[in-house]
This record gives sequence, structure tokens and C-alpha cells, in this order.
Amino acid sequence: MINKVFSAKQLDDKDPLRHVAERFSLPPNTVYLDGNSLGPLPKAAQTRAQEVVNNQWGTDLIKSWNCHDWINLPQKVGDKIGALIGAGKGQVVCCDSISINLFKVLSAALKMRPERKVIATTRDNFPTDIYMVQGLLSLLGDEYSIRYIDEADVESQLTDDIAVLMLTQVNFRSGFKQNMEAVTRQAHTMGILTLWDLAHSAGAFVVELDECQVDFAVGCTYKYLNGGPGSPAFVYVAKRHQEEYRQPLSGWMGHKSPFAFTPDYEAQNSVNQNLCGTPAILSMSVLDAALSVFESVTLKAIDEKSKKLQAFFAAEGKRAGLCDYMEIVSPAIENRGSQLALSHPDAYAICQAWIAEGVIADFRAPNILRIGFAPLYLSFADVELAVLKLAEIMRNKTYENEVFQRKQHVT
Ligand SMILES: *Cc1c(COP(=O)(O)O)cnc(C)c1O
Repeated sequence: MINKVFSAKQLDDKDPLRHVAERFSLPPNTVYLDGNSLGPLPKAAQTRAQEVVNNQWGTDLIKSWNCHDWINLPQKVGDKIGALIGAGKGQVVCCDSISINLFKVLSAALKMRPERKVIATTRDNFPTDIYMVQGLLSLLGDEYSIRYIDEADVESQLTDDIAVLMLTQVNFRSGFKQNMEAVTRQAHTMGILTLWDLAHSAGAFVVELDECQVDFAVGCTYKYLNGGPGSPAFVYVAKRHQEEYRQPLSGWMGHKSPFAFTPDYEAQNSVNQNLCGTPAILSMSVLDAALSVFESVTLKAIDEKSKKLQAFFAAEGKRAGLCDYMEIVSPAIENRGSQLALSHPDAYAICQAWIAEGVIADFRAPNILRIGFAPLYLSFADVELAVLKLAEIMRNKTYENEVFQRKQHVT
């Protein structure tokens, strides 16, 4: 038996973020290791949902576009998100989904490199990112193509025929984290535009888009930003590109003067051009309130706690003998995001058995048990309990029970 250096209680007592969990409405007797899929409900979001439905929509009706400034919500929320990803004001806007935003940015970026016909990405990128490229290519014809590069050592695979390099900073399965600064710098030496997907980055650790001179970025808000199911995504267009940027989903909200109702489209030369149709005010308002949780914390503190939680999980897991049953498929802690992936042929059933014990994580096909560490509400005591339950499940082979083997629609 390896002795503990610090107990969970000692670690919780000296955790500078220990009071942040109070700002969430979390169900009792639940350890939530799935904030990287769907963040839990912040109390401020709950309050805002009622306010926006009952008072704004219910009472002030259409006047709310002005009196509650609904019309500027996408920019306002965009700037709040910008502050969490190292983007100065006026470069991020909140709208649509990652998938839709990828289509806009990829189209615009290809136009900015007319002599180049290749979009490069990794084969094990999140499927929708690849699907959106494939859909776009079907419109563009045979001249254009997608090139798959290996996620390790991206820099060495870059060539000057690539128009756009589209990478997800943190691999959704393994947690492998790209070096945004080095990759972006190398891409720029070859005239390649960079598009980063921050799905598993925003709200999880320090991101410095401006400092890394990233060209474009997209991300969602329902994971570490706790915006709620299907909350609108965001898109970043660096200031220096906004004059030239032209995306093809030219809806009226991206027009220079939407309320002039003129028959011809005239693009705004700003990130707002990404607004396409009427914004989803209900979900964006809830997201706006959810982001207030971040006002009193720093991403650096979140990052530090995440590393400690992950190290604690690893140490406790080792003590409990988890390594005898499962394999770690994530890279070392310095090279991964705020998640850990364990592999086992019965990962799906193990995940279901864990959920039955009150520990919620998720399964990613084909054989990954994915564990998300969201430091805003996760305690070291939670991690200790989660390991204990998992070790029990493995030792007793509880997961072999037929009820845990049945696949549900969403995994
Ligand atoms: C979660 C996630 C998405 C989801 O895209 P939506 O269009 O918001 O459904 C896309 N890409 C990555 C890398 C993700 O992790």
C-alpha cells in the first residue's frame, strides 16, 4: 500500500476554489466527472432563465430587443467569452453551433488563400469538424481536398500548399493537447491560416488567442463554460482579418444595417458578420448569467486545480489497483487537457455501473471511459469517492450485469 501524502480533506481545505461549487445547483450524492460534455447548472443561470422568460419575454415583449438590449447580446457574451480565451474585445461573437461556425470560417479562410486548395486536419479530430469540411468540399468541387495529418508533431507535416490548418486543441478522446503557440507560429511561416477548435479548452485552462496570433477559433459553451444544453457557440476572428473576412452564410444579422431592410447584402467588416439569423435569446441569456461564475476566478487557478485533481486521481487509482484493470490512454499530465481517458473493452458497461453508483462520466467509442475534471465544482473528496467506486466495480465485475451492457441512444 502506498501511503497518502495529503488526504482529500487536507487538499479540499487548502483549495482556493473550494467555495465556487456553492454557485452551482448540483444534485445530491452525485460526483460529476462529465462537465466536459455538459456543464452543470449555475444558480445565476437558473435565476436568469426565469427572469428572461417571465419578465423580459413575458412582460416587456418585443420592447426587450431595446430595453433589455437583446440585440447586442451576441457581442456582449462574445466579449465575455473572449476574456476567458485571451481575446481582446471585438473579436468574438456568440452564435450558432461549432459545426455551423466551422463552415463559415473555413469558407472565409479559403477565400483568403485563393491559390491554395487544401484544408489540413487530424484524422481523429471530433467527427463533426471533419464532416463539415467534407460537406464544404462537396460544394467546392475536385480542386479542393482535405489532408489528414498526424496529431503528433504537426509542425513537421505542414507544407505551403495548405490554405487552412484546422485543429482541435484538445483531442476529445485522449485529451492530447496541442502546443497552440508553436503550431500557429510554424503555420504562419508557411502562410497557412490557423483555425482552432476550443471545445475542450474554453473555461478549462489558460488560452491566449491574441498572444499566439491565432487567426480564427471556434468553441462551444455547454461544456466547461456551463451555458446549458445546446447553448450557442462562439467564433473568433482576429482583428487583422476582419476587413477581408467574408463568410457565405450572409444572413441579415451580419448585414451592415439589418433594419434598413435593403434587398442587397452588405457585410459588416467585423466579427459580427458571423451572425446569420436571429440569435437564440433565451439560451444566450442563460449562458450570459452562467459566465458570471468566472468573474471571481482565474483560469490559472482553474488549471492548477485541474492538474492537482488529476494527479490525485492517478495516485488514488494506483493505490486502489485500477492499473490492474484498465489502461491509461491519455498522454502525461503536461500534455493533456482537463480530462483523462482509460481504456477497457467493457468501458461502456463500466461507465453505466459507475453512474448507478452516483459517479457520472462518459463513454467514447470504441473503448474509452472518459473522465472530465472541472475544478469549479469538483472536490478532492469527490475524486476519492469516484476512485473507490470504480475500484469496487472492477474488483466485483459489477459491469458484467446485463443492465449495464444495454446501449442507450446517447452515450
Ligand atoms: C463538442 C464538440 C463539438 C460539438 O459541435 P456542435 O456543433 O456544437 O454540436 C465540435 N467539435 C469538438 C472538438 C467538440 O468537442
